[in-house]
Amino acid sequence: MKNKFAPARLQKSETVDERIEFAVKFSHERLELLRRGDWLNLREDLNRLIGIDDNGAPMASFAGFHALPDKKTGSFTQAEDSEIFALQKDVRSLLEGFVGGHWIPLNDGDRTVKWRPIETPIAGRLVVTRIMDDDGKNFPFVIFIGALRDSVLMILSSLLATNASGAIDRCPECQTPFYRTGKRVFCAPDCMNRAMVRRKRAGKSKPRKGAK
Ligand SMILES: [Zn+2]
Repeated sequence: MKNKFAPARLQKSETVDERIEFAVKFSHERLELLRRGDWLNLREDLNRLIGIDDNGAPMASFAGFHALPDKKTGSFTQAEDSEIFALQKDVRSLLEGFVGGHWIPLNDGDRTVKWRPIETPIAGRLVVTRIMDDDGKNFPFVIFIGALRDSVLMILSSLLATNASGAIDRCPECQTPFYRTGKRVFCAPDCMNRAMVRRKRAGKSKPRKGAK
């Protein structure tokens, strides 16, 4: 039987958009359907998401903000499946805060804006420094030191602080945070079909664009 299920993969180029898209897909990936090879790929991609190699060392090619897991932690290559299941829940919850929750007014000088203050506890340390090479050139090196779970949440948060995160939306049908490509309104064809059927029954036509 051919498996139609295509797990999320993070490609080699690792742009901010690709890393966010991967994290969002991971958050609602059906992990119970992954085969052994998929799990190996997922571990590799989670390492890549936070900028480390299989041994937990920072990837040289990776500019910007890195995670550096605690020595005793290692990388996702050594992580238990259960740790990745738990991580998925935390990533999902973080993203739900990002696209869901209740809007609360926040006074910001002359105007009132709205926000969704959902807190996510993490533990760790930061090293904010520069690295100097032999030629005297230096570049910023900011690392987060902590557990794998906290590393992912910290790095993902820094990615979400960029404009690239505008593509994350909440599916109006199942409320799942998803990464919007093109004009998609729903997270998956299943959700679109369900919404269409219900609206047909209710005597309405097409789903409203951008429904929240
Ligand atoms: Zn959906």
